[in-house]
Amino acid sequence: MNINTKKEYINEVNIREIEVKSILRKYKKIESWFLTCYGMNLYRGCQHNCVYCDGRSEKYQVDGEFGEDVVVKINAIEVLRRELDPRRKRTPFKNGYVGVGGGVGDSYQPAEKKYELTRKTLHLLYEKNFPVHILTKSILVKRDIDIIKKINERNRAIVSFSFSSVDDKISRVFEPGVPLPSERLETIRFLKGEGIACGMFLLPVIPFITDSPKLIGDTVRKAHEVGIDFIVFGGMTLKEGRQKDYFLNVLKKNYPDLIVEYQNIYRESKWGSAIDEYYGSIYLTFNTIARKYKIPQRIPPVLYKDILSENDLSIVILEHIDYLLKMQGKKSPYGYAAHSISQLKEPLSTMKGELQKLKGVGKVTEGIILEILETGGSSYYKKLLTG
Ligand code: SF4
Repeated sequence: MNINTKKEYINEVNIREIEVKSILRKYKKIESWFLTCYGMNLYRGCQHNCVYCDGRSEKYQVDGEFGEDVVVKINAIEVLRRELDPRRKRTPFKNGYVGVGGGVGDSYQPAEKKYELTRKTLHLLYEKNFPVHILTKSILVKRDIDIIKKINERNRAIVSFSFSSVDDKISRVFEPGVPLPSERLETIRFLKGEGIACGMFLLPVIPFITDSPKLIGDTVRKAHEVGIDFIVFGGMTLKEGRQKDYFLNVLKKNYPDLIVEYQNIYRESKWGSAIDEYYGSIYLTFNTIARKYKIPQRIPPVLYKDILSENDLSIVILEHIDYLLKMQGKKSPYGYAAHSISQLKEPLSTMKGELQKLKGVGKVTEGIILEILETGGSSYYKKLLTG
């Protein structure tokens, strides 16, 4: 196995080791994009230095020069071991995947070769019996196939990779420290061969560069060829400040003609969002292509229905339905219903006769929830998911 194929793209970085008081982040409700109830950042800052990374935004308060300064949470394993001790908790741990990666630093960035914090975390999560969802852009994840397989056999593991497209040349410009898309695809093929479920987060597509029907089509087709289990799609945000300035500088050097197009779609927005019309058009493109290949546009139930509590299962399915309907330009009450369920303390099955008292739950939604409680799934959802 060769994990050093992109060494020439790896930046020199300043590593700072720190000790932290906490690692595990508990989410207010299950995160239905990743199916995680807990997440963590073992590193802060990222050597991968993607030009569009929103970790660069002031909002996340990553110190130093993003891409050049990386903080390593040197005592992470010790702290995590303490946090995962059930004797220290008043309420039991929630069922759901523990998310490793994402956030403000890839858990398999080059520093991981030396520190092995991610590898040790996986061993600990295996010991403590948690399912794991890894999100990365790095092929270094292959190093840990032994422990990922053990987690998968006992509790389930998903490895997801983020892509902005499968074009290696474009990736060299916008993802200068990351293994090429072709290498990531080969890693997916390898992991699938080992029996591991793999997802693609086609996120973000870069406006006017990787969002053409042709390139989205190539990306979905190649993902399909290597056996991807699902593709989650999303457009790019550009938050005012460091993130936007950095991105536009690189754009100016490489695609100067596009500056005006960007000014047209990225106007004043607190979240750095582009205009709705733009997102609407790329979602439509992706939706059409994904349906052609029958690729689920969310993590499919087979990967979570035996893991989640009945309330979380209902929340996830309703939020997925909400998303899929909105992708088709339709209105949906399901997100609101999911939010109401997330506020409940009691299991849904104890309130079967009173579901319509919940905000956002009408007759149709009640029918969907009852089907989920009875069968662990929803036929309406199944139809929407793959078309
Ligand atoms: S790999 Fe992820 S966290 Fe790292 S720079 Fe790229 S987008 Fe940001």
